[in-house]
Amino acid sequence: MGANATKSSDKAAAKRAVEVHKFGGASLNDGAAFRHAVEIIRGRRGPRAVVVSAPTGVTDVLLGLAARAAAGDEAELAHDTETLRRRYHAILRDATAGRQGGGKDTAAAIDEAFDELSSLLASLLILKELTARTSDFIVARGERLSARVFAAALKAAGGRARYVDALEIIFTDGPFGGASPNLMLTDMAVRKVLRPLCEAGTVPVVPGFIGAADLEHQEKPSPGGARQRSVATLGRGGSDLTATLLGRALAAREVSLWKDVPGLLTADPRVVPDARVIPQLHVREAAELAYFGAKVLHPRALIPITGRPIPVFVRPFADPGAVGTEISGRRTLDKYPVKALSAASGQALLTVAGNGMLGVPGIAARTFEALHRQGTSVSLISQSSSEQSICFSVPDGAAGRARELLLAEFREEAARNEIDGVDVQAGLATLAVVGIGMAGHPGIAARVFGALSAAGINIVAIAQGSSELNISFVVKSAEAGAAQRAVHDAFQLSKIGGGAAQRAEHTDAVLLGFGQIGRTLAQIMTKSTNGRAGAKAGKIGVTGGAKNGARLRLVAAIDRSGFVFESGGLSPKAVAQLAGAKAQGRTLAAAPGGRRATPEEALAFLGQHALSDPILVDVTADETTPLVKQALRAGMNVVLANKRPLSGARAETEALEAAAARDGRRLLYEATVGAGLPIFDTYRKLAESGDRVLKIEGCLSGTLGFLLTEVARGRPFSEALRKAMAMGYTEPDPRDDLSGVDVGRKALILGRLLGFAGEPSDVAVESLVPEAMRELARDEFLSGLETLDADWARRAAAAKGKGATLRYVASVTKSKIAVGLRLVGPESPFFGLKGTDNQVAFTTLRYRKNPLVITGPGAGPAVTAAGVLNDLLRLTT
Ligand code: ADP
Ligand code: ASP
Ligand code: MG
Repeated sequence: MGANATKSSDKAAAKRAVEVHKFGGASLNDGAAFRHAVEIIRGRRGPRAVVVSAPTGVTDVLLGLAARAAAGDEAELAHDTETLRRRYHAILRDATAGRQGGGKDTAAAIDEAFDELSSLLASLLILKELTARTSDFIVARGERLSARVFAAALKAAGGRARYVDALEIIFTDGPFGGASPNLMLTDMAVRKVLRPLCEAGTVPVVPGFIGAADLEHQEKPSPGGARQRSVATLGRGGSDLTATLLGRALAAREVSLWKDVPGLLTADPRVVPDARVIPQLHVREAAELAYFGAKVLHPRALIPITGRPIPVFVRPFADPGAVGTEISGRRTLDKYPVKALSAASGQALLTVAGNGMLGVPGIAARTFEALHRQGTSVSLISQSSSEQSICFSVPDGAAGRARELLLAEFREEAARNEIDGVDVQAGLATLAVVGIGMAGHPGIAARVFGALSAAGINIVAIAQGSSELNISFVVKSAEAGAAQRAVHDAFQLSKIGGGAAQRAEHTDAVLLGFGQIGRTLAQIMTKSTNGRAGAKAGKIGVTGGAKNGARLRLVAAIDRSGFVFESGGLSPKAVAQLAGAKAQGRTLAAAPGGRRATPEEALAFLGQHALSDPILVDVTADETTPLVKQALRAGMNVVLANKRPLSGARAETEALEAAAARDGRRLLYEATVGAGLPIFDTYRKLAESGDRVLKIEGCLSGTLGFLLTEVARGRPFSEALRKAMAMGYTEPDPRDDLSGVDVGRKALILGRLLGFAGEPSDVAVESLVPEAMRELARDEFLSGLETLDADWARRAAAAKGKGATLRYVASVTKSKIAVGLRLVGPESPFFGLKGTDNQVAFTTLRYRKNPLVITGPGAGPAVTAAGVLNDLLRLTT
């Protein structure tokens, strides 16, 4: 831009009303994202103010560090603090592209903030108590540093920017942890501090999410400079609120909230894949959605601007040219009386009931008064028309206390039998159906409930919102996803015409398990897909096909120690490093960017991120059924190489399949049997073509196949087993193979396909581990292997003498499953099997005499990974 030519128009622009731009944490993942945000700001004309969140995940990490320190858990605190410090430095370096522009000061600020954090954590370790105030002080650095880095990046790009601390301009009335803004003080301070900057053409950059605590909690009685003030956070997601507060005070032309979604959608896209962008909605509708749990806007974000002519835009960070969603005072789209759905899970329903309630005045008022005193927020209320009960929902965690409170409040009424008691039902979700046009459209409620009953979903409670802007209802948490999809369909919200649908450009895979198979799979996946260079060169990778074909990304890997997460996809380099470190015994938590967590916590964390079309890939050999359920509930498809979830108690497997069906998710498991061989695919094709499978027989263990051929060739058993382990053919404990348990599991999975109704104990399994060695520790067992050699040599020779050979065979029908060692002669298809090859023979109505036989490699990380990849590709197309 020529400096002279723009001088006068700059001046004119400066007089124009300010635009406020907020960049959300989900978008600010790395240095490149900061540069992209800076470009967006540089691309706008006129005065601008910027609000930034902490980069992706930072708030969670800081809260986790504080909680761990206060719990006295010192392990890896220092390491994780260092990792975060390094992440900020890397972002700064990258965001400023090495140029000056305050980069040096900012680097010092980063170090100062982390040194301070280290001392804070050290004192928490001693104090073992974490107050809301301290917690706020700790997390505040996430946003503060983010804003400093942003200002430095904007300067480095040639813009004029100034970091303005939120404590100078945002005032609150407390409490810590979820403070309410003091509108009057904030209005005044924002105008005084930011106006002159904006008018001078400087972009103020303000950390979101935080403000000054109420006066009572200031360090000094009379509030001095911002430095002396204590910090309070505005509640999770509070940066949205910071942005509207600035918008209000500055009478902004508009407020833009840049997020990782194409706009405000008709429903949470992680739950309802059909969700669409709503082009425009009324501010009251958006406020209602936010208040009732839509995790896209802070619940109170729209309060400061309600009734003011300040439109808020939810804009896609990835596509700055797109229109996104306009939230304003206009009323459009009247064709759609219902515009969107939102859900809040983790709710409990309390019911106060009694025959005598009719005669007692003010029960409802007293109920809510009591809860208000406790500080519990009630989100749904319904009173039965007979007035014999009132019920309302509160967060799960507050239910017990609320019940005690009400029992105390109504002690006398209970004594007189006017009130029966207070009932608590937990594990529920509240859903809200929102639209301003509902008031004028009769029959909306009937349509909602018709859709739910057609989907077989039971409604626990109903409430028509007093605003007539929403109908809320309560269902079991487990049915919340299905309920939202049913209602979304019933109102045809996928046709709301909001431009493009939620385009799933990517399919995000989350790897559970980073052992040999996991690492192999990770490398195959990233090599052909995630490579940045590859992407630039237009390489499509494993999905092949059309240019716009869906792209598979590996975004996270989880092991027992923790996980790594990269929302844009792990690079081949990162995966190679992780795999190398892991092969040397390092954990994922200890890897660069790694976080400590249990797999449940990791999944919960990932579930909160906007993964695109996510898939959980279970390549562990663990008991993962609860995790698989958790993933399904979080809207993930699931691909299993792990046999356990499908080969445990029959009820468990059935529950899993029912959960997948209910949540509209796919559960694929081709790699559980025959590694990469198309066993289930073939079964499906036979069944679809009207054939009926009567019996499945097979050599299902590449490991045992390998061992038996090696032994038949004269190799000592111990040597053959050690080689199998080295090649990655065995389960982590080779006795899982030798005992036949692994083959038994595969046989059971196949049996259930045929309708076998038994339990794992109904599978007859012949073990190849001598009785005496079954209970030994793994190492003891391995050191005693040589004692088995002579026996195996004898068995092999005997078989050979009969012109036959030994095979470990599974035989599966609807009524009987048996696996064990068999002597097979040259007439059997299994006779000629080599090495680790698997073979499966389907006897069907059509293939009765000559079974349909599938043969191929059946063990080893590479072929198993290939089987998993097959399933993944089925889910991406
Ligand atoms: P920010 O980065 O600004 O903090 P958030 O992560 O708070 O953004 O909000 C965006 C996320 O909200 C999306 O990634 C999406 O998964 C989730 N979400 C839930 N409901 C909706 C909805 N109705 N419309 C858009 N996004 C939604
Ligand atoms: N970083 C804060 C959070 O994660 C605030 C925000 O993102 O708006 O809740
Ligand atoms: Mg947010």
